[in-house]
This record gives sequence, C-alpha cells and structure tokens, in this order.
Amino acid sequence: MYNENNVFYKILHSKLSAKVIYENEAALSFHDIHPQKKVHALVISKGLYSNFSDFVAGASPQEMKGFFDAVTKVAEILGVSQRGYRILSNTGPDSGQEVPHFHVHIIGGEKLSTSL
Ligand code: AMP
Repeated sequence: MYNENNVFYKILHSKLSAKVIYENEAALSFHDIHPQKKVHALVISKGLYSNFSDFVAGASPQEMKGFFDAVTKVAEILGVSQRGYRILSNTGPDSGQEVPHFHVHIIGGEKLSTSL
C-alpha cells in the first residue's frame, strides 16, 4: 500500500524542492541530498509505487521503459556513462529503504568498491 506521507511524493508534487537533473513522462531525477560518492543521483518513478517489487508488479511496459531510459539519460548527463556507474534500489525493511517511494540510486564519478 503506497503511503503519500514521504519526501519523494512531496518533491514530485512540488511541495519540496530538489536539484533536478532530468525528467520525462515516467521519472524525475535529482541529486541525493547526502551524496555517498562524487556522483549520487536518484531517479524516482512518477507513478506511485512503494518499492521496486511494486513497480514491477504495477507499472506498464511503457512506464518501465520510460523509467529505465531516464536512468541511462541521467548517467549520460552526469558524465558517467563511459567510465561506469552503479545502480541500486533498496526495497523493503531489510534493505534499509528510508523513503517508501520507488527509486534507483545512480552512484559513480570515482572508482567504486567491489563489495556491497
Ligand atoms: P533509500 O534508503 O534507498 O530509501 O534512500 C533514500 C535516499 O534519499 C537517501 O540517500 C537520502 O539521502 C535521500 N534523500 C532523502 N531526502 C531527500 C531530499 N529531500 N532530497 C534529495 N535526497 C533525499
């Protein structure tokens, strides 16, 4: 069950500001407020899904394509496409997911550890 009381819902509905990088019909991307690496962006779905599993279960193929197109587009904009980057989606309590709105982290801009 999606709960609207979360920060990404507020950003999506312009109730909270963010440093926007890119937007398309399925996704909105902005810089993480507490970057863990030189590049740390978030891509959030425009559809209201609590996590990755809900997104896969509920999103249309077009919505999924639009979302993942946005991920690669943001990597290009941030200049990490060639050297590489990591995408990560925390899903559910064991993952430590803080914000219950589906999102992917894009991390890079420097050599990343091979361990999780
Ligand atoms: P997760 O644990 O995957 O839910 O990660 C949520 C991420 O959202 C964390 O990396 C936070 O630093 C980030 N975050 C929380 N609030 C904001 C905000 N207002 N603007 C940008 N990023 C945020």
